[in-house]
Amino acid sequence: LSTQLLQAQKMESVGRLAGGVAHDFNNMLSVILGYTELAMHRVPPHDPLYEDLREILSAAKRSSEITRQLLAFARKQTSSPKVIDLSDTVENMLKMLRRLIGEDIDLAWNPGPGLWTVNMDPAQISQILANLLVNARDAIGGVGKVTIETGNVSFDQDYCEDHNEFLPGDYVVLAVSDDGCGMDRKTRDRLFEPFFTTKEVGKGTGLGLATVYGIVSQNNGFINVYSEPGQGTTFRIYLPRHGGALSTAHQPGPATAPRGT
Ligand code: ADP
Repeated sequence: LSTQLLQAQKMESVGRLAGGVAHDFNNMLSVILGYTELAMHRVPPHDPLYEDLREILSAAKRSSEITRQLLAFARKQTSSPKVIDLSDTVENMLKMLRRLIGEDIDLAWNPGPGLWTVNMDPAQISQILANLLVNARDAIGGVGKVTIETGNVSFDQDYCEDHNEFLPGDYVVLAVSDDGCGMDRKTRDRLFEPFFTTKEVGKGTGLGLATVYGIVSQNNGFINVYSEPGQGTTFRIYLPRHGGALSTAHQPGPATAPRGT
């Protein structure tokens, strides 16, 4: 079985399992959250029990954040595709993205010249960028720089024979680079796996890039990753250009297994 098929199957079974568990869990967590809050109202703040309850509350809140992400991941992505200009779409999201990464990180925006249209749900672009930027922020862990770029590229048959991770066609590229810690080979090989995370417990779920992967495959795109320890990371997302050559020839299916280079 090819890596991409395996990846697609893994995503699907994990998605189904996660959805079922997350749903029931979420209900039980609401009960825990509700009763803990009630109990906190009945205990005076100087009572040692109050601190214990606060710990329970904060753990339950963290758990509920994880189940929320699980549910978002498991939900079959129902999208409302629209013909949009990628650069305009990103531009409209910059304010939200700046807030997401905080003031220590300089966010540079380099839209390529031209109008690059894709037929895609803008909410999915926002999901891709939010996940990539949170990872960039965590990889930087302080002061640093993140760059978002757009552009376009065409791959012909000859090129794709040499680079079999791509299918021929016209693509719009969305690239996110950071000057963070970068990744070693072991991490690069596994980063799209659902639940793979190197972050400490409670900080990462390992679902961010699995979600990005799901969205990009759904839109017949590809992901390419360049990362080296100490040299930062660049994610390039290739999305079929609307009205571009061959883009309609693509059959819906899993994206090419993303590779680190
Ligand atoms: P999470 O962020 O919850 O860990 P992801 O699927 O988003 O889950 O990422 C998986 C792992 O990939 C991260 O834990 C991290 O080790 C690695 N990673 C992702 N993006 C970057 C990046 N920009 N720089 C360095 N490592 C990264």
